[in-house]
Amino acid sequence: MKKLQYERPVIQRLNTGVMNKFGTRTEYAPVTHIEGNAVKDLIEKYGSPLFVISQRVIEQTYRDANRAFKTRYPKVQFAWSYKTNYMNAVCNVFHKMGSWGEVVSGFEYQKALNNGVPGNKIIFNGPDKTEEELKSAIQNNSMIHIDHLDELYLIKELATEMKARPKVAIRVNMDTGIYPMWDRFGFNYENGQAWDAINKIMLTDKIDLVGLHCHIGTFMLAPSAYGVAAAKLSDLALGIKKKFKKNIQYIDMGGGFASKNTLKGSYLQGQDTSPSFDQFAEAITTAILNAGFVEDELPLLILETGRALIDEAGSLLGTVISNKRLSDGRRATIMDFGVNVMFTSFWYDHKISPAQEFSQYTEDAVLYGPLCMNIDVIRENVTLPPLKRNDHVVVHTVGAYNMTQWMQFIALRPAIVLIDLDEKAHVIRKRETLSSIESEEMMPKHLKEFKL
Ligand SMILES: *Cc1c(COP(=O)(O)O)cnc(C)c1O
Repeated sequence: MKKLQYERPVIQRLNTGVMNKFGTRTEYAPVTHIEGNAVKDLIEKYGSPLFVISQRVIEQTYRDANRAFKTRYPKVQFAWSYKTNYMNAVCNVFHKMGSWGEVVSGFEYQKALNNGVPGNKIIFNGPDKTEEELKSAIQNNSMIHIDHLDELYLIKELATEMKARPKVAIRVNMDTGIYPMWDRFGFNYENGQAWDAINKIMLTDKIDLVGLHCHIGTFMLAPSAYGVAAAKLSDLALGIKKKFKKNIQYIDMGGGFASKNTLKGSYLQGQDTSPSFDQFAEAITTAILNAGFVEDELPLLILETGRALIDEAGSLLGTVISNKRLSDGRRATIMDFGVNVMFTSFWYDHKISPAQEFSQYTEDAVLYGPLCMNIDVIRENVTLPPLKRNDHVVVHTVGAYNMTQWMQFIALRPAIVLIDLDEKAHVIRKRETLSSIESEEMMPKHLKEFKL
């Protein structure tokens, strides 16, 4: 046998945004399939636009996150942030993998109960919990995270009235070195509000302080901020132990880890710049483990990670409506989806791939949505091969917030399909219809008829 010739490997530095021999092309390969399902077929069957969620990617991402924390800390629990994506099928993928539920409104609370999450595995956050909702949370033994003193006083009253001992945590806000600070939720650490709330709770035997909570921001790119926050919550927990001889059962670090999306105006791709779960886990667990808890009193570590667990699992399939030239000569491509279903295009440069083969030729274009609204822009400037009418595209990393913040403005909202582990597609939300939208409307009798 002839000996193969050895070729020395080389590492080449790539400069993003700089010309190379292929020009400035940024979208390299067509994405014709999503896990064995042809984009063309999915659109034919379920309509365009269409959200597609990959169960496999959710599970993989969840396992990665879980592993990052569990290898570093003995007691870890994830709680799925409903508002990030509260399609029931999506929530149940997380619950099946062991996630509790984290909700920020009465409606979400009810959703978690209906999905079958036991009351004592639901974390109830948010500034607006009505008396009725608090009563039901107390009855169900849920973890109620107190946002302000009015809520604390109300819970105290309800505890007396119901002869129950509600399980609560306080939400703590703090300086983590990231500005502007999120200080509108919960009680401040630095100025003593947090201790004030703790004292008020501890000095009544009507309420059981079981945890400490923070949620320091969203799309956080600095793991070190979580280290600071975990150290401050640990300090409160140890202070409570010292002053009241009470062990705090859990520290809840909230959500906010950045997903792999690219923020508008950033030079590098989110794929390359967002910290990994390992980096966040290292910062948080190191801070708690160094804080000085004795080993068997280490608190349970709860994470309410939302976007970083679901963003990559979501894609949006869409279709080209038309091309035109703007007055300055730029190419404009109009798509059949806009900011109504892609709310996150206000702050991300979403990666967009053509769904069919294309030539080497590319051109800078602006991508518009279909709405009669000037701000309906999907990408201000993206390098794509020229797309023709009826061509399809795949928008990547849209799993977080788009399916909850979407707006029913001008157009009907699309169907959502989940692709299971065997690559089979399931509709998890039907495409809206005129009658589904009008189902809550009423017409006063005197307006029923008219003549033109
Ligand atoms: C929104 C929210 C989360 C999830 O945040 P992500 O940025 O999606 O990770 C978690 N906890 C609370 C209290 C929230 O309000």
